Amino acid sequence: MKIDFANLKLAYQEQKEEIDIAIKNVIDNSSFIMGEAVFNLEEKLANFTEAEHAITCSNGTDALLLAMMALEIQPGDEIITTPFTFIATAETIAFLKAIPVFVDIDEQTYNIDASKIEAKITNKTKAIIPVSLYGQMPDMDPINAIAQKYNLAVIEDGAQSFGATYKGKKSCNVSTIGTTSFFPAKPLGCFGDGGAVFTNDAALANKMISMRIHGQSQRYYHQYIGMGGRLDTLQAAILNVKMEHYKNNIKRRQQAADRYSTLLEGKVSTPFVAENCTSVWAQYSIRVLDRDLVQSKLKEKGIPTAVHYPKPLHLQQCFLYLGYKIGDFPISEQVSAEIISLPMNPYLLDVEQKYIVEELIKLL
Ligand SMILES: *Cc1c(COP(=O)(O)O)cnc(C)c1O
Repeated sequence: MKIDFANLKLAYQEQKEEIDIAIKNVIDNSSFIMGEAVFNLEEKLANFTEAEHAITCSNGTDALLLAMMALEIQPGDEIITTPFTFIATAETIAFLKAIPVFVDIDEQTYNIDASKIEAKITNKTKAIIPVSLYGQMPDMDPINAIAQKYNLAVIEDGAQSFGATYKGKKSCNVSTIGTTSFFPAKPLGCFGDGGAVFTNDAALANKMISMRIHGQSQRYYHQYIGMGGRLDTLQAAILNVKMEHYKNNIKRRQQAADRYSTLLEGKVSTPFVAENCTSVWAQYSIRVLDRDLVQSKLKEKGIPTAVHYPKPLHLQQCFLYLGYKIGDFPISEQVSAEIISLPMNPYLLDVEQKYIVEELIKLL
């Protein structure tokens, strides 16, 4: 058997007719930049999350930048985040010459441990960026409460969690600003790069709308320093089709995760989802001791795996200047050494999952 990890080909095949028409429409109209599909998508995204403002942009990294630029993060400002995430979360902080301040993760959810945040707050702290890793949001209420107490902004990095819920509220609409990514392999992916920011604050929304297009107030008049951060009309048109099927896709990801967890029960500790949360299963990740061996043996059997992420950010070469060392965040370090993601997509078949688990169990 040969398993596909994210199965992007099947995702296209399933909606081929609708997607081809949507692409052709954009090309026929040739309104490639900020065409109608972009604004249609923004309306859909706002409706879906119930956020007042959804603003599309070039990718999930630029979404983080837009959020921090709108909040006027300055050089030397401290921003609290997790070391167990994709580089973009902390890279964008450093790009603005602000300082990432890491806080270790919760052993069960792998998201930032809210109970460890307050100890890291100084008079330079300006914001907290929790990440909704693998599709599940962190415990947002205590994070928002701390932020309120110290007058900090909260940016949820929802690049992996669009569609997830926390106490019935949608990811990207639980804090000052939410950001997401439409990178092809994310739960809601386009055919290239894409992203969005969300907020209920009209002033921040207007600033991000402007900053996304070079800080302009009107064409060739620039109020802010901004960026070239627009989403292509083509990508928006594709996402408009995908949005129509997204709820169903989340359901199928959930079913695939449930099947894994049933098959793996008692053999390995399965992913923990908090009672008040639903995950969109960007990844289905478990922990194994001899990961290199497990990966290479599964590969021989036609089963691709991935590691999200092998090295926590405080130990990355680019962040050596921050002065962290091995042992500073023991949970992040241990999970980084053991975590492995199994194939996950809405099209996984029962027989495929049985085969994956059968081969995996032999190696535990
Ligand atoms: C993918 C990802 C990003 C960056 O998104 P891009 O669209 O690739 O720029 C940021 N944060 C997290 C947690 C991600 O997984």
